[in-house]
Amino acid sequence: MKQKETLSTTPLKEEHIDLSNLLLEEMGDEHKASSVETPMRADAFDISDEEKIAAIAPHFKAIMEILGMDIRDDSLRGTPLRVAKMYVKELFQGLNPANMPSMTLFENKFQYNEMLVEKNINFYTNCEHHFVPFFGKAHVAYISSGKVIGLSKLNRLVEYFSKRPQVQERLTMQVGKALQTVLQTQDVAIMMDAKHLCVSSRGVKDDSSNTITTYFGGKFQEEKTKNEFLKYIDIND
Ligand SMILES: [Zn+2]
Repeated sequence: MKQKETLSTTPLKEEHIDLSNLLLEEMGDEHKASSVETPMRADAFDISDEEKIAAIAPHFKAIMEILGMDIRDDSLRGTPLRVAKMYVKELFQGLNPANMPSMTLFENKFQYNEMLVEKNINFYTNCEHHFVPFFGKAHVAYISSGKVIGLSKLNRLVEYFSKRPQVQERLTMQVGKALQTVLQTQDVAIMMDAKHLCVSSRGVKDDSSNTITTYFGGKFQEEKTKNEFLKYIDIND
């Protein structure tokens, strides 16, 4: 009980970072495409989510009909609207910077200056070349520069950037750069290990291969720190 009182009378100093504005600014007024930024149209958010859903549904219906499916069937009738909602509200909601999770930083009161590793963060995303899923584990690490972040925020950041049509290289870099911005440190490492359905369920139909991408910033570019991170995540586990 006493401990609780102590905690409540000395609240942790919080600092809110509005990353959505920050990333939008980085994107520039023209939302110009680059290797790191998701290529976006300048008018990407001129219409509402509801308007997008209403506009996508008839297009998906047309695709089904062109494929020869009878959309009047009970089982198919609701599919176009269901897919449109799923695209806008779930699978691709991370295209909109307004959906960026809020990031709360705390002072590193414990003076924990070692590496923090959050491993085996599940992620599901979709390949922007085929619009089929790729999914796997993300391993995220940083060394505090004086600020720390709630652990669940690391999961949320991975999830946010996953909810876009993606390529794994860009996804890895977007998570890494966002984390560097939030934590105000270069010392960030990301590894993503994924299976791509566009490789396993079609094309070469290789279901045993994984794709690994990495992002090493600051101290993680040094061999010793990088190896420590790789040892902790030991992806053969
Ligand atoms: Zn693909």
